[in-house]
Amino acid sequence: MSAGSIELMTMTPPPGWRWPNFMPQEMACRHCGETYYWPDFMDRLQAARDQVGRPFRVLSAHRCSLHNARIGGAPRSQHLRLAVDIALHGHDARSLYRALRQTGFTGFGFYNTFIHADLGPLRRWFGNNSARKEWHNWLD
Ligand SMILES: [Zn+2]
Repeated sequence: MSAGSIELMTMTPPPGWRWPNFMPQEMACRHCGETYYWPDFMDRLQAARDQVGRPFRVLSAHRCSLHNARIGGAPRSQHLRLAVDIALHGHDARSLYRALRQTGFTGFGFYNTFIHADLGPLRRWFGNNSARKEWHNWLD
């Protein structure tokens, strides 16, 4: 690639990309564009998106190990494979969580402004005490 090339800026999904509401770029490492191809994860994410019927704003998805370390991510974070942090703005938090759970996500982090979902071990955590209080009303 030559200097000034914009190949990485293309908005056209590669052949075989079957998740109409997500772009490869939003699932890639924000720091270097590294991707982690996991069709089953994407099928579930698309199913949750279809169920909710509202756009998902993905704040963070795959992270390369360098980026994960730089931002203080857990050393064995599921983001090193694939995980999503979805902004809560514009969503009913409970509906969003339920859709993610029903489509098979197993790991959940509850924060004030976003929800983390992954396909790792069954677990839940809260970003801080105020997130815990807020989410407590919505979890069953
Ligand atoms: Zn990176």
